[in-house]
Amino acid sequence: MRFFTFILLFSISICQAQHVSIKKDTIHSTKDTLVFSIKNNMLSPMYFKINAINSSASTIIYKKKIVIKPAEKISNFMKVPRRIIDTTKKSFNFYKYFKFSIGYSNPYTVKHDDSYVYLLPYKRKKKLIQGNFGNFSHDHIRSYHAFDFGTKIGDTIYAAREGKVVLIKENSKKHGRTRKFINDGNFVIIQHEDGTTASYYHLNFNGALVEKGDIVKRGQIIGISGMTGFTTIPHLHFVVHKATEEEGNVSVPIQFEGYVGKKLKKGKRYARKK
Ligand SMILES: [Zn+2]
Repeated sequence: MRFFTFILLFSISICQAQHVSIKKDTIHSTKDTLVFSIKNNMLSPMYFKINAINSSASTIIYKKKIVIKPAEKISNFMKVPRRIIDTTKKSFNFYKYFKFSIGYSNPYTVKHDDSYVYLLPYKRKKKLIQGNFGNFSHDHIRSYHAFDFGTKIGDTIYAAREGKVVLIKENSKKHGRTRKFINDGNFVIIQHEDGTTASYYHLNFNGALVEKGDIVKRGQIIGISGMTGFTTIPHLHFVVHKATEEEGNVSVPIQFEGYVGKKLKKGKRYARKK
């Protein structure tokens, strides 16, 4: 029996492995070619832009840009000649050949409603420990407009905006100070009416209080904060993303109720206005 596994390591929080399943397609694979299927595990569309970074990638057949519908499975995602696969490792590392830009929405239809006023996703006053463009980790197009709120482990997290829960993770108990822990963060991702998604990160073990597919109201309880993933202090990482054709997910600037037109500053405390 020929057993074959492969490595799919989406680096630097573009996309954690649980967002998609990529598998060898047993029906379409042949003696010379391995065919991979992809399944979108999210209930939002997923967008992939695939850039070759290795000249051998020219022997692989794939689409450079692809939108995968919610929960859709696409066979023929990639056709890889067996001869370029390292059979001693019994693995195929996509990252050797490609750079992936991934989005949680359809870049051709998504448009953020900039007039929307978000609710702070917690109740009592919290310190903003890293704001927009923070140089610790909000230094990328995906995180420029993210917020790190200094929550305690066990604090209640609320939906900042209404929408549909498109993916959750809550099975991790791990955290650490290196990027090795990036896929260990628990989270809830909610898709909004305009197609954008909000991510609520670093939740506690079993800290998602909603299920995939739930429709949630603004202000509804959705989770319990924690300290999972790439972090050494308890906090909530909150960010709104839209997909773009060139970059995949990019963070979008948002405003919070009580602070419209104001920039939230690192080190300052913010509370919901009554
Ligand atoms: Zn953050």
